[in-house]
Amino acid sequence: MPKGIKRCPECGSDIGAAAKTCYCGYKFYKFKTTRVKGNEVDWKTLEPGDKIKLVSEDRWVKDDKNVRVGHRGVFDVIEVTDTGLVLHNIKGCCFQEMATLKSSVGFERLPPKIVKIKCK
Ligand SMILES: [Zn+2]
Repeated sequence: MPKGIKRCPECGSDIGAAAKTCYCGYKFYKFKTTRVKGNEVDWKTLEPGDKIKLVSEDRWVKDDKNVRVGHRGVFDVIEVTDTGLVLHNIKGCCFQEMATLKSSVGFERLPPKIVKIKCK
């Protein structure tokens, strides 16, 4: 098959590799999850029932030290509190602290990045 061409598994047509939909209506890209908007979402705008992905752990940062702690993965939002999120996934419930904190020895805690996702 020439470069830049792909074949539709439904009707057998050869179409451009960049095409998302075949002439027959077959969709080449079926994502289980899609990003709702942009990349990061402000956690305060989340609501119970939203599905999110923590794309990075919390980090404790001081000078060149960078300690990763906390959670990663896809979660359901159970509750949004003043300081963070109550989350749930197959492993159970957890609380994701979202405030920026400073420890007594000079580490600054940075909250994780959150991406909101939508399941079809
Ligand atoms: Zn087709």
